[in-house]
Amino acid sequence: MNTPTSPRIIVAIDGFSSSGKSTMARRLASAVGYRYIDSGAMYRAVTLYALEHDLCGPGGEGLDADGLAAALPGITIDFAPQPDGSQHTLLDGRDVESEIRLLRVSEAVSPVAALPAVRRRLTAMQQELGRGRGIVMDGRDIGTTVFPDAELKIYLDASAETRARRRFTELMAKGAGEVSYEEVLANVVHRDEIDRTRAESPLRRADDAIGLDNSSMTLEEQDRWLLERFDHTIQSLRR
Ligand code: C5P
Repeated sequence: MNTPTSPRIIVAIDGFSSSGKSTMARRLASAVGYRYIDSGAMYRAVTLYALEHDLCGPGGEGLDADGLAAALPGITIDFAPQPDGSQHTLLDGRDVESEIRLLRVSEAVSPVAALPAVRRRLTAMQQELGRGRGIVMDGRDIGTTVFPDAELKIYLDASAETRARRRFTELMAKGAGEVSYEEVLANVVHRDEIDRTRAESPLRRADDAIGLDNSSMTLEEQDRWLLERFDHTIQSLRR
């Protein structure tokens, strides 16, 4: 059990796009009273900034790496808690939560996230957010680069088709406009490839991460699985 005197830890959840990381991370954070940080939302916010300021074109084409690097120190990204317990991403104070989920941003985000200057800046912001621990953060490099000392690391996987189906259902539920399952699958596969092969902080499983393929797990089973690992980690720190 997590009590007020329990040690506060960092939980790092990494994995491919749409592997269910954010749902899993959000639910654990709420169950144990930790703060949840969606690091992908930060990369998406920077990407939206680049698109809006003509620093990159559709699909990340013509990315102006120097221009974006020069703009980075002036960009602020915050998270605003919502009455329903969720949080919205703010870019320079503007609520961009819906916009950053659009396919136009998904299609440009991986090239933007591969830029070393972007990674350095966002990694520093993420480390600052985790300074007091008591945080669940999901992404691609949280257990390897952002918090290599995280007490609990999970590496999530699921087939590309399962992940694309989930993402497609999510987009439909949000009324995100004209998009086909095939387009979503192509985007998932494309992002996987860039995230896995980029030079800086590529997606890879940390040596001390616990792997989980959740393709055929219900949300409740996943919650139980993670909570058990969390409790086990807390217990082992008390010993
Ligand atoms: O998690 P989500 O799919 O929203 O992340 C969007 C993109 O941001 C990923 O495809 C990846 O390119 C990038 N990202 C990253 N490192 C992270 C989180 C996200 O490179 N820690």
